[in-house]
Amino acid sequence: MNGPEIDLEVAPELRLFVAHDRRAGRTSVTTDGSSTLGHVVESLGVPLTEAGQLVVDGRPVPVSHIPSAGELVEVRPVERPQRVPGAPLRFLLDVHLGTLARRLRLLGVDAAYESEDIGDAALATLSAKEQRVLLSRDRGLLRRREIWAGAYIYSDRPEAQLRDVLGRFAPVLAPWTRCTACNGKLADADKSSVSAQLEQGTRQSYDVFAQCTECGRAYWRGAHHAHLETIVADAVREFGGLSTEAPTAQA
Ligand SMILES: [Zn+2]
Repeated sequence: MNGPEIDLEVAPELRLFVAHDRRAGRTSVTTDGSSTLGHVVESLGVPLTEAGQLVVDGRPVPVSHIPSAGELVEVRPVERPQRVPGAPLRFLLDVHLGTLARRLRLLGVDAAYESEDIGDAALATLSAKEQRVLLSRDRGLLRRREIWAGAYIYSDRPEAQLRDVLGRFAPVLAPWTRCTACNGKLADADKSSVSAQLEQGTRQSYDVFAQCTECGRAYWRGAHHAHLETIVADAVREFGGLSTEAPTAQA
């Protein structure tokens, strides 16, 4: 390209996306004179899902802005918490984020997830159809135009992934209200209606049951799964939400 040359500065939070020689600060970029600023930013490696305000010589511009010679462009990170138009807030996770999906469900956050790889095109279409924020560590997937909204998951550790999503989107937390297996909502259930799913010890020891309204899986209040209790307690302490007094274990 030998079109207009601009100066570009990427926010520190977004520097992991760009080439090493652009991470130190302001660098010059030669554009083709016809591409939008959104395209230029994306071609440098920054997914537009992660770019917040684009600022040219101190004033915000839309992604459709065509850069001209001598402009100073700043790429800022998304604001947190990020508001996604089109309530209610719900998510779609790619095939690599199964643990994160189960943890979001544990907190009552609507988190669709397919354990089979349905492919990028199908995921993007599903995101659009169900108006779900697509969560992925795959930048190529997040570049797809069809997606409703998306977010890059920065960490490969589930603990950090969960804090990232809760801090970024501030979903309402409702722990122990959603099936961790299928994302369905839980409803109170009689012992008799879930009895067949329970081992004898459970049948004798526990009385409060819930059942998934989608897949029928039974849940009961129990003392085990301390690990899950810790996840819920930590999330509620840091990000708020309604906590219930006792945990629910899973049949
Ligand atoms: Zn279920």
